[in-house]
Amino acid sequence: MFSVTIHRIVRITECTVLLLTTLIPNRNMGKVKNEIQEFTEVCERLYQKGGVSAVIEFINEALRQGDNVYSPVAQNVQYERCEACDNEMPSLNHTCLICGQSTEPLPVLSFLDELREQANELIAFGDSHEKAKGRGMMDVINAIRPLPNNLYFELMAIGKNDSLQREEIEINCGENGKIMIVKTDEGFVIDVYGQNDIVDTMAVWEDTLNPLEDDDDEPIDPNNFSLAEQEDFLDQWGQLTDEVCAELGYDEEGSDDLLMVDYFYYEPKKYWIPKSASMYTPREQSIADYLKLG
Ligand SMILES: [Zn+2]
Repeated sequence: MFSVTIHRIVRITECTVLLLTTLIPNRNMGKVKNEIQEFTEVCERLYQKGGVSAVIEFINEALRQGDNVYSPVAQNVQYERCEACDNEMPSLNHTCLICGQSTEPLPVLSFLDELREQANELIAFGDSHEKAKGRGMMDVINAIRPLPNNLYFELMAIGKNDSLQREEIEINCGENGKIMIVKTDEGFVIDVYGQNDIVDTMAVWEDTLNPLEDDDDEPIDPNNFSLAEQEDFLDQWGQLTDEVCAELGYDEEGSDDLLMVDYFYYEPKKYWIPKSASMYTPREQSIADYLKLG
């Protein structure tokens, strides 16, 4: 239970240290010195009689009773590292109240260290349920490695890479990972690196970000036009071989190869149809594309 008690006191004294520093100027310095000396002597005697716990009890009691003659001094007690006692000990002016040797302030605990201590206390002093909880906490804490700034992502660079004439972003991910995003003419590329090698890459096309207008993008799908519309299209644009050859001045004999360049043959109607025509509406182009697939 010892370490639990210590940490409770540390928290209390941290909050109340300020009180004494404001008290001192109002008091006779000699008197304060006497009180500190008295306090230290009381601690010494208590230690000899009842050990460390008797001293701690005394300090806690003095803190609890605001009107106790030792309260102002008790408020100035810090728990510090005593090498001689090999523990955190109550200390006044960096002097151990147990053994009289000099003490060192405790390092400021990081958040993770505090959690680790809490977990330790649960494991050491808890009931079976608390012990299990403490072990769980410890597993999690041990799995978390502190990272620079406690951030997973760290933006290393963003902007124009003049030597490569491109915009790029470099992001560190955790300890070993890195993401590069590079602008290309067609869009951008995301490269993910592990410690040594590229582990994944993805290209994103500008077209995906800026889809074409609806009209241009109409899918070639027979469900998008009725049979009647298809017939209308064929009537308007389809030509029999002799018609198209007459129009273009081709000899019908062996004309297929020539016609195939700009037309496709629609077998059911024996029609030649322009693959694409500047006169087509986007919708007509879509029908033409569909029929061309046969
Ligand atoms: Zn000591």
